[in-house]
Amino acid sequence: MADYLHRIGDRIDHGEGISGPAAQRLLDAARDAATRFDGMFLSPRQVRALLNDPRLQVHDNPQAFLTCAYDPAKALCHPDHAGHGGEQPRLDRCNPACANTARTDSTSPT
Ligand code: SF4
Repeated sequence: MADYLHRIGDRIDHGEGISGPAAQRLLDAARDAATRFDGMFLSPRQVRALLNDPRLQVHDNPQAFLTCAYDPAKALCHPDHAGHGGEQPRLDRCNPACANTARTDSTSPT
């Protein structure tokens, strides 16, 4: 996740655009991760902090040409999608209409 956020941050720095309903959350996560973790070898405690921070729950989903900025309250991939979606997105059931989607220029399916 830290590597992926680092790569997203690099692409943004090189002028790549981000779109989609979760674009701002993806931008914020990349900036937050860069501030907190960039260039560091993460200790187990830092890894736990990263994995447990709801603002940094960003998952690459190349099969759906998007990034999931996971907020369980908005997830359409879980049957009840009412805020009880669990701690991980179901990337295999990703719905492109979900409010957690964001796309970079290089992940858009054009
Ligand atoms: S439907 Fe897709 S974008 Fe939405 S939470 Fe699930 S995996 Fe993420």
